[in-house]
Formats: sequence, C-alpha cells, structure tokens
Amino acid sequence: MRLNRYLARAGVASRRGADALIRAGRVRVNGAPGEPGTFVAAGDRVEVDGVEVGKQPLAHVLLHKPPGVVTTARDPQGRPTVVDIVGHDARVVPVGRLDIDTTGALLLSNDGDLAHRLAHPRYGVEKTYVADVEGEPSAETILRLASGVALEDGVTAPARVRRLGRARLELVLHEGRNRQVRRMCDAVGHPVRRLHRSGYAGLDLKGLEVGAWRELTRDEVDALR
Ligand code: URA
Repeated sequence: MRLNRYLARAGVASRRGADALIRAGRVRVNGAPGEPGTFVAAGDRVEVDGVEVGKQPLAHVLLHKPPGVVTTARDPQGRPTVVDIVGHDARVVPVGRLDIDTTGALLLSNDGDLAHRLAHPRYGVEKTYVADVEGEPSAETILRLASGVALEDGVTAPARVRRLGRARLELVLHEGRNRQVRRMCDAVGHPVRRLHRSGYAGLDLKGLEVGAWRELTRDEVDALR
C-alpha cells in the first residue's frame, strides 16, 4: 500500500499528516527517504524520525473532557481540541466522540486496533451518562427511554435508566450513535440541558479534575482488550 496510507493505518498520523511528514523528509523506507508515491510491502522497514513504525510505545489516556472542546485531532475552525489539551508526546486520538458541550470520560489512544474495536457497535462498550434535562420526566418516560425510543436512525436498544434527581437521569447505553442521549431525551420531550459521561468501558473519573488526564494502568488496558 502507499506510504501515506500505511502511516495512517499504523496510527502515526492522519493521511494528510502523513503526507506532511513524508514531504518534511522525516520518513524513511528501508533506509531511503520516502516519497509520497512509495509503496510499502510486507517486511519493509518504515521509520519516522528514526523510530521504526509499529515499535512506538502504545499510549492510552483517560481525559476528563471539559465543555467547549471538540473531540477531534484538528479543528478547521481553530477551536481547542481534546488532543491539544492532552498534549501527549504519542499521537493519541480520541476513541469515539463527545459533543462539544458534553463533559466527562473520554479515552484517547494511539492503538488503532483497540480504538477501532472499542468504537465498533458490535462490541457494545458500556457508557454511563448523567443528563440534566428540562422538565421532570415521569416514571413512564424513564421506562420509555429504557425500553427503546424511535429515532430517525431506528429504535434505540434497551438501556438502563434511573432517576438521580428531579430533572437528572442516569443512562447506561451500549450503543454509541451520534448525539444519542440528546436525541433520546428530545424524543421524549425532555431536552438535555447538560450532559456528562461519568463512565466509559468500566473506567470512571475518580480523582480526575475537569480538564485533567491520566495514563491508564496496565490492568486497565488489559481489561479493555
Ligand atoms: N450522546 C450525546 O447526545 N452526546 C454526547 O456527547 C454523547 C452521547
């Protein structure tokens, strides 16, 4: 495959980022400077800044995402991104996404395989949300949210939903559709005012202030695999 695709697949950079690395002369293939059109075959040795691709240490980070930060590596509108605030030496990218105004647990990693698996609906990773909503949802509404709500992209899967306060709900989902919690709450007539993800794949935010992050422990990484 082409060198830029190879680098992107390996989690080194985006396709465009890989082109920039190649143009800057930072990529070598079997000891020779890489060209954008270089093809990489099995057994080729690809290095970026002298470090062999595939040999970089894996990094896994749990961020307590603040509001007003976008879940992407680079924002064309120049807004702060989760990657900016983490500022990790390894090229970690967000696993899944939280809306700009949603706060809470967000995993970032440079382990493309793990990220792909966790974000894939088939694996049904558990996500726990706390939603402050408009109005006071009834017991019947909570039951509707739990049993499945019809959205334009289909009925939501069963979820665990409980009341934490007059207008505060906890929702535990195994799906990860775009803006799912906001759309579910809209659909039952209780728009979300504030949304926080308190747990992701068994990880919680204990001890992490808003905006702070930490590396996962080896045991935590093993549990994600
Ligand atoms: N559901 C939403 O509506 N927004 C998020 O950020 C996450 C889940």
